[in-house]
Amino acid sequence: MIERAIPLIYLGAAASFVLALKWLSSVPTARRGVIVGIAGMALAVGGTLLRPEIVSYKWIAAAFVAGTVIGVPMAMMPMTAVPQRTALSHAFGALAAALVGTAEFYLQAPRIDRFTMGALALEVLLGFLTFTASLMAFGKLQEILPTRPITYRNQNVVNLAVLGVAAGSGAYLVARPEAAWLFPVLAVLSLLFGVMLIVPIGGADMPTVISLLNSYAGLAAAAMGFVLDNKLLIIAGALDGSSGLILSVIMCRAMNRSFTNVLFGAFGQVQEGAGTAGEQRTVRSATAGEAAAILQAASRVIVVPGYGMAVAQAQHKVRELFDALTKAEIDVRFAIHPVAGRMPGHMNVLLAEADIPYDRLVEMEDVNSEFPQADVALVLGANDVTNPAARHDRSSPIYGMPILDVDRARTVLVVKRSMSPGFAGIENELYHLDRTLMVFGDAKAVVGNIVRELAGGGGN
Ligand code: NDP
Repeated sequence: MIERAIPLIYLGAAASFVLALKWLSSVPTARRGVIVGIAGMALAVGGTLLRPEIVSYKWIAAAFVAGTVIGVPMAMMPMTAVPQRTALSHAFGALAAALVGTAEFYLQAPRIDRFTMGALALEVLLGFLTFTASLMAFGKLQEILPTRPITYRNQNVVNLAVLGVAAGSGAYLVARPEAAWLFPVLAVLSLLFGVMLIVPIGGADMPTVISLLNSYAGLAAAAMGFVLDNKLLIIAGALDGSSGLILSVIMCRAMNRSFTNVLFGAFGQVQEGAGTAGEQRTVRSATAGEAAAILQAASRVIVVPGYGMAVAQAQHKVRELFDALTKAEIDVRFAIHPVAGRMPGHMNVLLAEADIPYDRLVEMEDVNSEFPQADVALVLGANDVTNPAARHDRSSPIYGMPILDVDRARTVLVVKRSMSPGFAGIENELYHLDRTLMVFGDAKAVVGNIVRELAGGGGN
C-alpha cells in the first residue's frame, strides 16, 4: 500500500530539486533554495527506503553511520576549503554510481539488454574516472599533490588513447555482454584516465575542472537511473549534469578561457614568473588612520572584496565599516567579480553571511561604468580581478580576463598583507599607480582599525 506513495514522493523530490536550483541562482532566494534542496533530498531518501525490494535495513544503517562519520567533519571544513570539499563530495558520489554499476553488471550479465548495458558502461566509465579525477583535484587544491601542471610529449594523444580503449571496451560489452573479462579493463582504464586527465591541469584551473566533474558525476547518476529504472535518479542526475556544465561555461567566460584551454592548456606552467620580473617599482602606503580620513571625505565608495577577505574572515568587520560609512551618508556599494575568491559566488556568500543588503552588491558589468565617479575604490584582499594588465598587456597570463576597473576610481585603497601576488602568480600594476595607496595588514585587522578611527576611537 505504502509503495503506491513512492512515485508521488519522488515527484515531490524532483520538483524540490528544480525549485532549489531556481532559488539558488539568486542571492535573495538562495537560503530558501538550500532548505528546499535539503527537503527534496530527504524526500528522495525517505521514498527510497520505502521500496519493497529492501529485504533488510542492516547494511543501509551501516552505510548511514559511515556516511555520517565521513560527512560531518567534511561539512566543518572552512569556507576557503569549499572547492576541495566539493571535489571530495563528487568523488564519493561518482564512486557510489560506479560501484552500483559494477554490482549490477555482475548481477545481470550476460542476460542484460543492450540499452541497459550501454547506460551501465557509461555509468561505470564516468563514475570511475570522476572518482580518481576528483581525488586528484582534491589533492592539488589541498596542496598534497604538486599544483603545477605536469606535461610530457604527446600527452593528449596518450590520454585520448586510454579513454578510447576504455570507451571501446564499454561498446564491445554492449554488443557482447558475455565478454565479462572486459569489464575490469573498462573499470581500470576509467580509473587511470581520471588521474591522467588532471595531471596536466594546474591548481588555478581546479575549480573550473571540479564544476566539470560535477557534471560528469551527475551524468553517471543519470545513467545509473536508467540501469536501475529509477526516474528520480535520472532527473536529479540530469539536473546535476547540466548545472555543472553551465557553471563551468560561466567560469570559463569570466576568466576569458575556453574549455579546451582549461583541459589541455596546462595553465600555470609557462607563465611562471610572468610579470614578476623587472625593476623594483615604488608603491605608496597609508595607515588605517589615513585610510579612514580618505573614506570620511568621500561621497561614493566602491568596496572590492576578493580572496583575502575570505582568508581573513573580514566580512563582519566589513559590515561594521559599511554601517559606519552609510551612517555618514556615504554611498557604499560592493563590486562583485564572478571569479573573485576561490569558488563561484564566494563573495556573495560571505557578504550575505554578514547581512550586507543585497541591493548594495553590484555585478561587474554594471559596476565598471561607476568607477570613474567613485571617490574611493577600497580593494579588500582582491588582486588578479583588479589587475589592469588584463586589459592591455598581451604577454600577461590573465590578458583578456574581464576585470573590475578599480584603477579608474579617483583614489584606490588596497588592503593586503604584502606585495605577494594573487592566484595567477603575477604582479599587479594597480599597486604602482599614483592614485593607489597600499594599507598593509590582515584585512580583518585593518578594517577593524578603520572602523575604530571612523568612530573616533583611535588605533592604527
Ligand atoms: P587573488 O588570489 O588574486 O588575490 C588574493 C589576495 O589576497 C592576495 O594577493 C593576498 O595578498 C591577499 N590576502 C591573502 N590573505 C589575506 C589576508 N588575511 N588579509 C588581506 N589580504 C590577504 O584573489 P582575487 O579574488 O582577486 O582573484 C581570484 C583568483 O582566483 C583569480 O585569478 C581567479 O581566476 C582565480 N580563480 C577563481 C575561481 C572562482 O571560482 N572564484 C576559480 C578558479 C580560479 P597578501 O598575501 O599580500 O596578503
